[in-house]
Amino acid sequence: MSSNRKMNIETLSIHGGIEPDPASGARNTPIHQSCAFVFKGSEHAADLFHLRDEGFIYSRINNPTVDALEKRLAILEGGVGATATASGLAASMLAFSAIMGTGDDFVSSCKIYGGTTSQFRDTFKRAFGWNCHFVVPTDPENFKRAITENTKLLFVESLSNPEGAVIDLEAVARIAEDAKIPMIVDNTVATPYLCRPFDHGADVITHSTTKYLSGHGQAMGGAVIDGGKFDWLAHADKFPALGKTDPSYDLIFAENFKDAPLAVHNHAVGLRDLGMNQQAQNAYYTLLGIETLHIRMERHSDNALRVAKFLDGHPAVAWVNYAGLPDSPYHDLSKKYMRDGRCSALFTFGLKGGFEAAVKVVEKARLFSHVANIGDTKSLIIHPASTTHSELHDDQKIKAGALPEAIRLSVGIENIDDLIADLEQALS
Ligand code: PLP
Repeated sequence: MSSNRKMNIETLSIHGGIEPDPASGARNTPIHQSCAFVFKGSEHAADLFHLRDEGFIYSRINNPTVDALEKRLAILEGGVGATATASGLAASMLAFSAIMGTGDDFVSSCKIYGGTTSQFRDTFKRAFGWNCHFVVPTDPENFKRAITENTKLLFVESLSNPEGAVIDLEAVARIAEDAKIPMIVDNTVATPYLCRPFDHGADVITHSTTKYLSGHGQAMGGAVIDGGKFDWLAHADKFPALGKTDPSYDLIFAENFKDAPLAVHNHAVGLRDLGMNQQAQNAYYTLLGIETLHIRMERHSDNALRVAKFLDGHPAVAWVNYAGLPDSPYHDLSKKYMRDGRCSALFTFGLKGGFEAAVKVVEKARLFSHVANIGDTKSLIIHPASTTHSELHDDQKIKAGALPEAIRLSVGIENIDDLIADLEQALS
């Protein structure tokens, strides 16, 4: 693992954390399609159950194929451990469950995926009593102003869905540090190839691996990565799940598992009790996808920039919101936070013809598939205000960038001339 850390991300995407299977010699990680794993004896079983030994018990808690994916994700993000989940929304659920308590507050950027907004705004509050305060992230001081004595974390998307807003991670991280609370960054759209939130002060990273990490639109999944730097023990009263004695294991996670307390807790308590584990088959697909992450993210970003420039010059288009364009308000931040200024491939553009025109263009696109996903090799198109962000209130839609006239593109890795030809015919 330590020699892996010195290698570059292109190599780590292919080799990070994984050796050929010691039992069979298989070069690819086998799909361990087994619910349970045989104990060596009663003592071994008891040691595993009491966290005195490391190993596999039951696939809701851990699984060798999923473990391989977790090791790779932790290495790619520069974290100390990871926990894979059934989906991206399960990842935020899992991460928050270790940090928040009933009646606690948290502050979230309002420029986030619509499904996350409704999870934060409605279900977290109703089911768990976690109160979300949404703020406009373009002024990081807004986070500071929203913090109360009950605030337990700050949440942002490094590159937001659907607007492609780039967040000033270091500024928000400083505010979290002053308030002695962790900053969680959803790095789904940027991926660790383009952006490394732990280098900029993040404490925890979440992912929907459904998107660019698996990359082919074939496997749902998510992950929580433990940055390993937040001192849960020093703030044990605020974060009892990690800093105080756990009632079922009779130990303190931040003390007993100093290296990766959140990652261990997320398996031993979070997955055990909430049950949002990732399936071995999906972990395998995602590992396979990650092997080409670096190549795909470059092509995705380069295609997106070409498409954005084409749209920017088109008479039917009112505006284009892509951080890679020099006149984008996020252009300077993208040069700071995104590798080589590449901005991934998710962005919105607005039509002069408004809502009606936007819906028509989506229907006329042929090569761009009309689906509710992003981060696929295939180019995708959707009208966020009536679909992915429809559960938002009108003012929230505007703040999230899901305007009535806006179309969201997730630009794939097809030939650029074919993509532009498809948009040209749809706009005509
Ligand atoms: N985070 C971001 C940035 C997303 O775009 C999405 C889904 O689109 C999610 C989280 C939720 O992921 P999933 O659909 O895998 O639950």
